[in-house]
Amino acid sequence: DHLANKIAAGEVVERPASVVKELVENSIDAGSTWVNIELLEAGLQQIRITDNGYGMDQEDTEKAFHRHATSKIKDENDLFHVRTLGFRGEALASIAAVSRLTVQTSTGEKAGTKIKFEGGKVIEESKSDARQGTDLFVEELFFNTPARLKYMKTIHTELGHITDVLNRMALAHPDVKFTCTHNDKELFRTNGRGDLLQVIAKIYGMNVAKNMVPIEAETLDFKVTGYIAKPEVYRASRNYISTIINDRYIRNIALNKAIQQGYHTLLPIGKSPIVVLKVEMDPILVDVNVHPAKLEARFSKEKELYEIVETTIRETFRKQTL
Ligand code: ADP
Ligand code: MG
Repeated sequence: DHLANKIAAGEVVERPASVVKELVENSIDAGSTWVNIELLEAGLQQIRITDNGYGMDQEDTEKAFHRHATSKIKDENDLFHVRTLGFRGEALASIAAVSRLTVQTSTGEKAGTKIKFEGGKVIEESKSDARQGTDLFVEELFFNTPARLKYMKTIHTELGHITDVLNRMALAHPDVKFTCTHNDKELFRTNGRGDLLQVIAKIYGMNVAKNMVPIEAETLDFKVTGYIAKPEVYRASRNYISTIINDRYIRNIALNKAIQQGYHTLLPIGKSPIVVLKVEMDPILVDVNVHPAKLEARFSKEKELYEIVETTIRETFRKQTL
């Protein structure tokens, strides 16, 4: 099973940013309102994630590191109603397989559990304190997969990927307080007060935030909210379009197209808007089970969705220019 975990890790854990993504998603799924991230050397030396979520009891902690151990899906039917960010039960086993990992967790009722892994093998287990929440300490990522380690880019590049992950998480979860340090210096921080515009200001700067217009639309199937920047503050890259479906950051080319169509004629050719678009819909209408990295999604009523997004954006600016 160690070999299988190591192979699965190749899919799930591409680089330090993948570890940050998986662990922060787990913290959010555990109902955390605060997630602290401490990185050394862009996560290659250390990724430590501490949360104030539900935590796990001893039995669940031991189970959580087995592949396909997920507490989030009970049967096939649940797959069509995924509300949590994780559901495959692969991340913890995969990360443990390619690092030295220590988990310390408690449900807050009694003493917590502490387990140390090395390359996926348990090397120590003991009781720990009873602070409610989970602390995951990942050291020396890829120490036992030298081929993977060789492919890591510069600290600067790896840190850039981590920042992308944190930005997306913060945009999708303004109600969660994120604090992050890199080599003991503050890298990122949000206040967790649920104000999306404040998160936007943090990420894109005050000038962008000041030029944001709220969007709001609702049909039987979809509720669309978020912010779009006035056409004056455009960008040269499509990376400034963020789409969040049911609190999950996703990428969907057709949805991006719909957004840009809504802007049609408002922007110079080749320029792209700054947008944070959130859509709420019945989970049955969206399939997130496309790829292990889980950034992609498919929609059942895609035509209707693209239509409402395009129209909403167009209408928002028609009102603006009047
Ligand atoms: P998945 O998220 O797909 O269920 P993971 O391997 O990421 O799979 O996690 C396995 C299980 O471990 C989760 O289903 C959850 O029950 C538990 N778990 C992981 N991280 C946390 C956390 N920070 N707080 C509480 N429980 C957690
Ligand atoms: Mg997970």
